[in-house]
Amino acid sequence: MALRKLVAGNWKMHGLAVDLGEVRAIAEASRTADCDVALCLPATLIERAVRAVPGFAIGAQDVHQDDKGAHTGCVSAAMLLDAGARLTIVGHSERREAQGESDSDVRAKADAALLAGLQVILCIGESDAVREAGQAVATVSAQLDASLPHGEGAATGVPARLAVAYEPIWAIGTGKVPSIADIGEMHAALRRRLQAAYGEAGDAVRILYGGSVKASNAAEIFAVPDVDGALVGGASLKAADFLPIVAAAR
Ligand code: PEP
Repeated sequence: MALRKLVAGNWKMHGLAVDLGEVRAIAEASRTADCDVALCLPATLIERAVRAVPGFAIGAQDVHQDDKGAHTGCVSAAMLLDAGARLTIVGHSERREAQGESDSDVRAKADAALLAGLQVILCIGESDAVREAGQAVATVSAQLDASLPHGEGAATGVPARLAVAYEPIWAIGTGKVPSIADIGEMHAALRRRLQAAYGEAGDAVRILYGGSVKASNAAEIFAVPDVDGALVGGASLKAADFLPIVAAAR
């Protein structure tokens, strides 16, 4: 089944008020896109971006699993919704590594976000050592099984509001990309894991590829079976870089 593609930008720790012009340009051009488009911005920009581009999907890059409480510096799903966000990334490898987030943390975040009504992009991916050891598919499949939402949030949110992003850690921000055959092998394996977890509903979960996607490689990646879109970091910061990727997703 061919799913409508999703092209989501991850601005990471980039973006000030002066950059809202890029958000406006991306939102304006995306109105006629043949795919869903979203930008996951720093928390400080979410509300201003939502006001600047009403109707366009603005998201966050992380969420806390609790509704509220003594969690200094954290933001809940209810707070994101209150700011106008529609989606959030969970489990990005930069957070798994720097903040020590485990698969069970990621699962709790995904469940909480889905239960609150957000869409979720759940990230998984292998290190270069794992890829070189020939263990990429087994490792990432196990990571998916252990991170997938399975609580009350999953019951209400799968598959319509869940996307999985396969992001090899060694491909993020490096300019390196797996071979088309390797992307295809991984996405097919992840589709089988989603079917095992959710039955037929697993066919409707979008599987995004992420890691050094740019205008020059997007069309080839989007043509791979079970690649249902992309999570784009560096090339999402400027409309001139991001919009050709959106255009490639038909
Ligand atoms: C990312 O950080 O999610 C990402 C895919 O980054 P980049 O596109 O810059 O490799």
